[in-house]
Amino acid sequence: MKLSQYYIPTLKEAPKDADIISAKLMLRAGLIRKTASGIYEWLPLGIRILKKVENIIREELDAAGCCEVWLPVVQPQELWEKSTRWTYYGKELLRFKDRKGAGFCLAPTAEEVMTNLVMKDINSYKQLPLCLYQFGTKFRDEIRPRFGVMRAREFYMKDAYSFCADEKSAAQWYQRLYDAYMRIFTRFGFKFKPVEADTGNIGGNFSHEFMVLAQTGENEISVCPKCGYTANTEKTEIEAPAPANPKPEDLLPAQEVSTPDAKTIDEVAAFLKQPAEQFIKMLVYKADGKAVIVLMRGNDELNEIKLKKLLNATELEKAEPDFYEQTTGSPLGFAGPCGLKQRNADIKIYADNHIKTIVNGIAGANKKDTHLKNVNLGRDFQPDVFADLKLAAKGDRCPRCSAEFDFMRGIEVGHTFKLGTKYSLSMGANFLDENQQSKPMIMGCYGIGVSRVIAAAIEQSHDENGIIWPAPLSPFDVELIALDTQGEVRQKADEIYNALRAEGISVLYDERDERPGVKFKDADLIGIPHRIVIGKKLLPEGKLEYKARTAQKAEFWPIEGIEGRIKTLLGK
Ligand code: ATP
Ligand code: MG
Repeated sequence: MKLSQYYIPTLKEAPKDADIISAKLMLRAGLIRKTASGIYEWLPLGIRILKKVENIIREELDAAGCCEVWLPVVQPQELWEKSTRWTYYGKELLRFKDRKGAGFCLAPTAEEVMTNLVMKDINSYKQLPLCLYQFGTKFRDEIRPRFGVMRAREFYMKDAYSFCADEKSAAQWYQRLYDAYMRIFTRFGFKFKPVEADTGNIGGNFSHEFMVLAQTGENEISVCPKCGYTANTEKTEIEAPAPANPKPEDLLPAQEVSTPDAKTIDEVAAFLKQPAEQFIKMLVYKADGKAVIVLMRGNDELNEIKLKKLLNATELEKAEPDFYEQTTGSPLGFAGPCGLKQRNADIKIYADNHIKTIVNGIAGANKKDTHLKNVNLGRDFQPDVFADLKLAAKGDRCPRCSAEFDFMRGIEVGHTFKLGTKYSLSMGANFLDENQQSKPMIMGCYGIGVSRVIAAAIEQSHDENGIIWPAPLSPFDVELIALDTQGEVRQKADEIYNALRAEGISVLYDERDERPGVKFKDADLIGIPHRIVIGKKLLPEGKLEYKARTAQKAEFWPIEGIEGRIKTLLGK
């Protein structure tokens, strides 16, 4: 491709609202432009990379036995009502009406449409298993679109759905897709980890997120260095700590202390000169409309996902001040567990396991500006349920082997999910088994954020001058720069351009009438892994300059046989 005829509008500076390095570089290198918040235009260079990603995914899914389809981006309300998600999906679902008043939405995912498609033609076990996939535009009205195409509202996704007749086959297909994902992300050149993920309301333990390891990732991952247990921190289980088991004589008498104007744990801790871990923090939640009390150690954070699962709740939200005061009979910020049951006999108290480590703790005294010192479990309060409710953090240990967790950050680029019969039951996707019995199909779904993959690749591979593409994702194999636009240099560069292309090597040929500095800067910004420069200085010696994007220095190579040498380098 000749650059003078190509459309790569590079920028010296990134627009001010670009908030992450990959977004800055994608804008600067002319891959994308912003249309509106979370909505982007893709330019020719961006499309080439998108296609590279798409083709690798397609090759691996086809090899795994999946079949490609193409589904509409406008989906009827009727189907979403069948699955009940029209009510439950929330505000990310962009809903609208057509001219006749019929309800529709823009596809944020395609379980409903895909299940409905398969139901039309599949009615016997003989037609199963089946795994269909598509590439397509998704729209999710994200509350906070950010990080360029990484958390966009409109984005490009590959979504696959498996339909099986029994559990064994469903597990085999899950594994097959998991293995395909391992190959796909390896081919992208990623440093990544599959991690156990939260399964939300759906239940079961069959969900993995594929995380590209990068400091800028939105997700935190907990990794056990000993046994390898790896999970999204939002789902990481923690070994219960040893309880304190104090002797009766160690328990000091409870005592009220005045803590004027100190409401938060940190404020009270500073005022009383006590560490936060001595505090018993009392949280009030509303789970499906009912009040729930949670006790946490002062320095620990509640993992709401664990609580939601423990309660088997559909909706969980932190109590508003009024509800808090009504439930606890205490002013906001001063509620404690002592005497709570006497005041509110119906209330259920849940406590994180770490509460058992506190001796002579501090809690709210249920009075304004007052706390209680020397509060002790058993003597002063008794939770109904102890559980692992803590968000994993530094110092926590693996429940499988007791080693201390390491933490790293990741970008979720893919998600595999065993759905079971959630959609087939609600939508009636049944088949007849060998005995003519009607049964629901067992489903799995598998997503890859194609556009997010590109941003993740850049987060993982760039330097101060620009992008460094992993070869399999690079928009072109080689960048060729002619330092003169005319004469011998240009003629030789044209020859090399043709020779490389004749060998099936894709070339971005910078023959623009620009200063060498501009060309070099753009080449570094765009990040093609191999660069060849033809100039006046080396030409009389029959040589050219070669530089790998990752190398510090250029090398001088003979022009003769350059296409063969590059071909070997590319492993073609
Ligand atoms: P997240 O937790 O990041 O919101 P999700 O669990 O909602 O992701 P899935 O529904 O599993 O995501 O979608 C499959 C894939 O689509 C994700 O693994 C991710 O790569 C991509 N994806 C999801 N939301 C976005 C978005 N807003 N912008 C770009 N890609 C996205
Ligand atoms: Mg999401």
